[in-house]
Amino acid sequence: MNKVNANKIKAVIFDWAGTTVDYGSFAPVKGFVDGFKSIGFDITNEMARKPMGLLKIDHTRAIAAMLPEYISEEQILQAYSAFEATLFADIENHCDLKDHLLETVAALRERGINIGSTTGYTLAMMEKVLPAAEKQGYAPDFCIAPDQTSKGRPYPYMIWENMKQFGIQNPREVIKVDDTTADIAEGQNANCWTVGIIMGSSELGLNRQEVAGLSAEELEGEKKRVRAAFYQAGADYIIDDLVELLGVVDDINRKLAQNEPHKLLTPGPLTTKQAVKNAMLTDHCTWDEEYKAITTGVLRDITAIAANEDYATVLLQGSGSYAVEAMINCLTKAEEKILFLVNGEYGKRMLTIARNSGKTFDYLSFAETEPVDVAALEQKLQEDREIDTVITVHCETTAGVINPLEAIVEVAKKYGKKVFVDAMSSFGAYEINMPDLDIDVLASSANKCLEGLPGLAFVIAKKTLIEASKGNSLSHSLDIYDQYRGFYTGGGKFRFTSPTNILLALRQALDEYQKEGGLEARRERYRKNYTVLTEGLAQLGIQSIVAPENQSYIITTFDLGSHDFAKLYNTLKTEGFIIYPGKLTSLPTFRLGNIGDVYPSDMEALVKAIETYIKTQ
Ligand SMILES: *Cc1c(COP(=O)(O)O)cnc(C)c1O
Repeated sequence: MNKVNANKIKAVIFDWAGTTVDYGSFAPVKGFVDGFKSIGFDITNEMARKPMGLLKIDHTRAIAAMLPEYISEEQILQAYSAFEATLFADIENHCDLKDHLLETVAALRERGINIGSTTGYTLAMMEKVLPAAEKQGYAPDFCIAPDQTSKGRPYPYMIWENMKQFGIQNPREVIKVDDTTADIAEGQNANCWTVGIIMGSSELGLNRQEVAGLSAEELEGEKKRVRAAFYQAGADYIIDDLVELLGVVDDINRKLAQNEPHKLLTPGPLTTKQAVKNAMLTDHCTWDEEYKAITTGVLRDITAIAANEDYATVLLQGSGSYAVEAMINCLTKAEEKILFLVNGEYGKRMLTIARNSGKTFDYLSFAETEPVDVAALEQKLQEDREIDTVITVHCETTAGVINPLEAIVEVAKKYGKKVFVDAMSSFGAYEINMPDLDIDVLASSANKCLEGLPGLAFVIAKKTLIEASKGNSLSHSLDIYDQYRGFYTGGGKFRFTSPTNILLALRQALDEYQKEGGLEARRERYRKNYTVLTEGLAQLGIQSIVAPENQSYIITTFDLGSHDFAKLYNTLKTEGFIIYPGKLTSLPTFRLGNIGDVYPSDMEALVKAIETYIKTQ
């Protein structure tokens, strides 16, 4: 189940000519000029260099393709054999080591890093180069030529052979160092880190005397050109000299350490599946037909989780609160009175929204550790006949209380009220049958129990209610009616810039939801997580605050006792768990969410980590 996460750099794979030996990579250039002369073409050094990095026969073909005339296969082979003759006659004179190579390699080895290599030279050529380099003190731990694998650059096979040799599983633990764009492509195809070196590179194409003959500005101009070429080829780092490589290794190791996988035991954003994150890797255009079709599919699939064709889902760019605000703002009329049921932060947030948008409203307030009292609601509805809409939070994430949604809706409907639900942290994990219960509107987001990424929220509402809401909204950006029209008459069109990558991730998250087995399976997993967690911590004397019958299986508030939250947090973080501070004013607590791509085994590991923490206090 666990993928191997990149840990730190374990190998640096160097190219040969232009990168570690043969400053400026002149041996092949001379060879190609002679090679093409043999078939009657005068090519420039620049032309000879252009495909540098490729296996030499492929390089010959690439030059041939640049010529204005058709070059037959026979001519290509003739040019290649003339190229080889020149090269072999002279190759040992083009094996001078590049500046700072030996000390850099020694420093890398000191850090336990393997030194690998790939090349555009054939094995026969390398048989001349290797001993010449070794004589000067440079002998990488592994070398492979493209004619030893089925294909040369830009295929990644030579890098794979290096990884095989060094027993490396993850290409993100490998750096490829190169001096041409073809080499950088090889590294990219292997998904390694790629480093382009400027000085002495084939791309710069100058020998030491030529470099010395340039003015400072001229050299800067040439370097700028090379840097641009490497940048366009997608190099991760671009350096002047090999000596800078050690700093690159440090920087990558720092990034890898930051990427240490951890489990977010918070109410969102959550730990998500790799497949969900990977879905973000394409750039999409908002109004493209294919993209609009994806959007339409997402709307349909979200609706199907809780409702039927009498309802529509409207996505909104933003976090969950944007959908809550839109729901309150657009789907109630100015003269309507709203009753909010408040037993935590999210209920209070809705009061702020209502106040700021000048709504007429009242509220009933309950303790944060207690559910909404349905009897109190009924009494209120008897007393105040003006109320049109009752709005409640389903799972109050503040303490983790699950409110009695069915009973609330039943009473509200008995008095003919509309019911809106903030189902942010329950949607996808608790059954909410909107048509059966006659719930009018629900708000949630991509990054809670759907296990998508943050950036998209949505409301599911009765179509009749949305269609009657034209002109209600005080906000243009959050206008549900307008957004609905874009989606349903515009064929899946977002009104404004769509968070395209996040939508693709949501598409994947919905696929994962179905793959897991939908609501039933996800609910089951969360319940198991919850049970393992609460029972395990109870054994350690850590009790949850909310009574079990009112406690959600989403997030739980625990008594912190005399423990120091910051200390507990930091210790658990080093173990790969991110916990959440408590929010109760009455006593010190901490919270643990058990939703997202987390499993009972993670909960067991967390309980163990907390046990170890307690024992060492
Ligand atoms: C997460 C959450 C929200 C939305 O919060 P955002 O930070 O805007 O995503 C609203 N209500 C509840 C109950 C939540 O759990």
